[in-house]
Amino acid sequence: MRVPLIAGNWKMNGSLVSNASLLEGIRAGAAGLEAELAVCVPAPYLAQAQTALVDSGVYWGAQDVSVHAGGAYTGEISAAMLNDFACRYAIVGHSERRSYHGESDELVAQKAATAIAGGLIPIVCVGETLEQREQGETPLVVARQLAPVLAAVAEAGLSKIVIAYEPVWAIGTGKTATPEMAQEVHELIRATLAQADAAAAATVRILYGGSMKPDNAAELLAKADIDGGLIGGASLKAADFLSIARAA
Ligand code: PEP
Repeated sequence: MRVPLIAGNWKMNGSLVSNASLLEGIRAGAAGLEAELAVCVPAPYLAQAQTALVDSGVYWGAQDVSVHAGGAYTGEISAAMLNDFACRYAIVGHSERRSYHGESDELVAQKAATAIAGGLIPIVCVGETLEQREQGETPLVVARQLAPVLAAVAEAGLSKIVIAYEPVWAIGTGKTATPEMAQEVHELIRATLAQADAAAAATVRILYGGSMKPDNAAELLAKADIDGGLIGGASLKAADFLSIARAA
């Protein structure tokens, strides 16, 4: 039985003042939900999220993690540093990092492995661009992105990851994959994981991300292999985020 996970990706949004009311709203509405909730906040606000959410049942995490343990890596944040703030999750391989920061499939895989070794749960993002979808390359792209992750985390680590299928063309655009389109890719991802470890594949949560909103969440989350959502824009309003969580 896979407990649905609704994870917010705040991206580079927020301030101490606006976060306080958002976190308070999430905390207040989280009790009694069947889904697990998490927020991945900008690093400077991890302490604030920790203080606001401790003992609430809502988890918090980061939007990236370095492959390095420490040293001369300006701007990087290590898994140990995230542990100092009791993070549970770290997003790795978000398409914005792949495209704006040139992160390769191999680097993303190393980040996933580093997160696991550091006691964090990586939320590994995969997904195709519009052009790749139109060329019929979605299965190829997703397989190419997953292969190094499966090699890097090996069998022992496979049960410790979360995957997020995020078609790039659906992120922040208001365009959502239909539930059928999303399910097709989720099923493919699970089958790919099963080739490495069938038992673990049955337990790994595969989230959908890409303009998931209160009005489309229920039909996406009803699909057999969609185990939750990675939510960008709609995670910045407590009411919308909680409404998606209630649909899970
Ligand atoms: C995301 O960035 O992970 C995302 C899914 O964004 P949005 O929900 O805004 O499309």
